[in-house]
Amino acid sequence: MATVQVAQHAGACFGVQRALDITRQALGEGQGTVHTLGPLIHNPIVVTDLAERGAVVAQTPEEVGPGETLILRTHGVHPDVERRAKKTGAHVVDATCPFVKRVHRHCENLLRDGYQVVVVGEAGHPEVEGACGHAPGALVLGSAQDAREAEVPRRVGVVAQTTLAKDVLDEVVCALLGRCEELRVYNTICQATRERQDAARELAANVDVMVVVGGHNSANTTHLAQVCKEVCDRTYHVEQPSQLEASWFAGAQSIGITAGASTPAEHIVQMRDAIACLCDGLAPAGS
Ligand code: SF4
Repeated sequence: MATVQVAQHAGACFGVQRALDITRQALGEGQGTVHTLGPLIHNPIVVTDLAERGAVVAQTPEEVGPGETLILRTHGVHPDVERRAKKTGAHVVDATCPFVKRVHRHCENLLRDGYQVVVVGEAGHPEVEGACGHAPGALVLGSAQDAREAEVPRRVGVVAQTTLAKDVLDEVVCALLGRCEELRVYNTICQATRERQDAARELAANVDVMVVVGGHNSANTTHLAQVCKEVCDRTYHVEQPSQLEASWFAGAQSIGITAGASTPAEHIVQMRDAIACLCDGLAPAGS
């Protein structure tokens, strides 16, 4: 009989839970139609559930009318977007995670103090675009290779996407070290991300199969899957129980589960039950 264990730190973080609570409260209060600017979090199941409760995903602030509600999501936005949102006359609710706000402040301060701001993260990711908006001219570097190829001035100030894998930040900082005179680094990888990565790595190293639960469009869940894959070949990233395949667990005696910061706790429980059910139907290991 295989054991199924959930990582010590897994699933919805403080910022995501806060944004969900804010949105559910707004839906309950019924101040006009409730819009989120883009999908609230990178989790299609949660986004579908919110849509069923009446939340509408707006692509631009201008889609929202006066008196309606517009929620800015955890990733934060470019200051121009916030200005446009306020101009619409909508009731703007800022659900930006306070840890993302801290990145914005570091960007502003570094720019003011004359540093070339570098955001280490995924180009085009909404959080990275929002951060860059707080330091016009910021460079986005996603890898050590990017750092070796970028033109960097004398003084460089670094912040990180909050969900970045720590190894990537280390590599980029090392690559920048020899290329500028002064390097100031704020490790803004959020504690929730670090805890989830550390706990996932530890569990993945000690099980036969690792299942990572969360949206395929979620950067932090994808990073978790990469971290697990480094130490456990049989790592699978799935969004919902129906995507599990019994063959993944053949012969496994121990199965680990982790989940990205945008995965609600109830999804982890559902996944654990589904895996236990699948394993019950398999022949015992070694038979
Ligand atoms: S991962 Fe960290 S920074 Fe991102 S929303 Fe969660 S708590 Fe906030």
